[in-house]
Amino acid sequence: MLKEDFLEDIRGDKDCPICGWDAQTLHTNAHKARCTAWQRACRRIGYSPMTRPEATEAIDTAQQRLEDALPEQDMAQTRMALIRAFYDRSLTLAIDNGNADKHPDFRSYASMLELPEMSQQLRHRFPHTPKHIPAGFTVWQPEGSRGRRFQERRARQMRERRLFA
Ligand SMILES: [Zn+2]
Repeated sequence: MLKEDFLEDIRGDKDCPICGWDAQTLHTNAHKARCTAWQRACRRIGYSPMTRPEATEAIDTAQQRLEDALPEQDMAQTRMALIRAFYDRSLTLAIDNGNADKHPDFRSYASMLELPEMSQQLRHRFPHTPKHIPAGFTVWQPEGSRGRRFQERRARQMRERRLFA
């Protein structure tokens, strides 16, 4: 039985706990179609990411924590939580865009990131594989897609701005 069979039981102002769809339009056919596609994609890839609102919240929480002077052990854990939340958010976008099957798994994704939060320890664990996710970005986009071209252009501009600042 698919999980959407339980959706009828969701009441009140809660967003869909499965795909994060807005509460106001939860009981529409558009949502049912999306939720079914979402669940099928999650089953195919064998992983259910946090919904996008959950991932966004987890990212905010982790980023705020990293601003405090935490013991190194906590810093390391928080950085991992942040990368995990970035991964889930990236994957939710890929699911929505029909690219769930092409999205890298967590290990590959972490290796593609080029962020200040990628500490030496994390880099050691996830050796960098460049040219998949441009520097500073956290959302994986398929090669040759408009989204990827946009990221590459932005990353180039940022690099040039730093060089000439
Ligand atoms: Zn849903």
